[in-house]
Amino acid sequence: MSSQNIIKNDVLTLGIDIGSTTSKCVAVKNGGQIVGKALIQNGIGTTGPQRALQQLFDSSGISLPDFAYVIATGYGRFTCDTANSEMSELSCHAKGARLLFADVSTVIDIGGQDAKVMRIDSGGVLENFAMNDKCAAGTGRFLDVMARILELSVEDLGETGNQSTSVVEISSTCTVFAETEVISQLARGTNRIDVVAGINKSVASRVSGLVKRVGAVPLVVLTGGVAQNIGVRSALETQLGVPIHISPLSQYTGAIGAALFAYEIACR
Ligand code: ADP
Repeated sequence: MSSQNIIKNDVLTLGIDIGSTTSKCVAVKNGGQIVGKALIQNGIGTTGPQRALQQLFDSSGISLPDFAYVIATGYGRFTCDTANSEMSELSCHAKGARLLFADVSTVIDIGGQDAKVMRIDSGGVLENFAMNDKCAAGTGRFLDVMARILELSVEDLGETGNQSTSVVEISSTCTVFAETEVISQLARGTNRIDVVAGINKSVASRVSGLVKRVGAVPLVVLTGGVAQNIGVRSALETQLGVPIHISPLSQYTGAIGAALFAYEIACR
């Protein structure tokens, strides 16, 4: 990705997704081509959004005045001075997922502190949704807490859990009680791999309950940071009985959607 690919008449737009846990931004050319992206592991209330923008400007050679329009989305969207306007995360995720997978009907987004399921109609418009933003179980936060207890990084939870041949059931739905349950399993000498598999399965169970309220109509796409956890993804596939698709850009989906909406506004 470089500014050399950009010519005078290209319309550049920027999407900024300020989440609870991470800040993402994506630069899009002419409403379809991603020409820059950046992610910082700090979300709302931190310097994460500013650092993500600086990283994007430095890596792409594009600067703020080059953008025709800028939209902020995510939990922290109202705190962003750089954006021309804001847009809901649900609309941006639906829009971004459609660029990544043209045939998408259902988007499951598992972020740092919430999980959302969106049904998209054939025109790419959000038709229905279900959301959990009240409880940490079934979100990245649950995985972050468990990774800390297990002295693993969240990046390793998926591969580690998928090596299990005897998944430990985590029966507590509350994160605090589940934490106690995991600690007592470890104290009892239970294989850590089996505990990790149980943790991944627990997140998948919570999320599949949400998915069933909307319906898992193919093509089903998993977005958000937790999409990178292969253990959660495979447990979800088993529980929902449908293939689940992910993109290497899954964590950027909301920012991509924001940049695409920004293009529509810039071209009005
Ligand atoms: P938000 O937009 O709410 O800030 P994200 O969609 O960026 O959240 O997701 C953040 C969560 O994704 C983290 O809490 C973490 O559990 C998970 N995560 C981030 N990176 C990875 C990774 N490489 N592998 C597995 N899980 C990850």
